[in-house]
Amino acid sequence: MIRPDDEEKPFIARWNMLARILLVESSVKHIARAAMDYADFDDGSNCRPSNERLARETGYNERTVRFAWSALRGLGMAERVSRGTSYLRQADEYWLQIPEHWANFPILGPHGRKFTCLGCGKLFNPVGNCSVNELPTDAPGADMVRYDIAKMCFCPAPRKTKGRDDASCLAGWNQAQRKAGSPLWNQLGLERWKLFRQARADDW
Ligand SMILES: [Zn+2]
Repeated sequence: MIRPDDEEKPFIARWNMLARILLVESSVKHIARAAMDYADFDDGSNCRPSNERLARETGYNERTVRFAWSALRGLGMAERVSRGTSYLRQADEYWLQIPEHWANFPILGPHGRKFTCLGCGKLFNPVGNCSVNELPTDAPGADMVRYDIAKMCFCPAPRKTKGRDDASCLAGWNQAQRKAGSPLWNQLGLERWKLFRQARADDW
């Protein structure tokens, strides 16, 4: 795989690679790829498709497109250069960018492999996800992106079967932590990213 920061490669290829490996909501990944079609292929500038058009072309609704732009702004992957005037039916103009801290995003490793569940040790596909605050767009912290990192470190909980309550790998892991007198998942804070790297076992 090419590195998103390999300046020898064209911008469009590096952008598409970053969108491909990002472990965020799949709608954000798809809309990032679709937005690139409208940007300058050499540097990601001049990107101004309307949300309505992106919605029609990707099959998502406009709310999901707005969510994707908020997430991309929060990640530092889209800088809003100017705001369109809605009564003139103009779209916002964005400059798509690959931020310097891309390697700290939740992303697949350079080999694109499965992750190893920290609970049971089985290989699984990490479930990309993200949320934004969905505040009015200029409010402080409006575009802050959050992740449920556990979905990328533990395999999905088995479906509940009647009369049997299979514990999820995260619950089992928490139990072991409690026994050892160690912090539980929700108490770990930024330490969770270390465990994310451990589950990925494939560093950039
Ligand atoms: Zn597991």
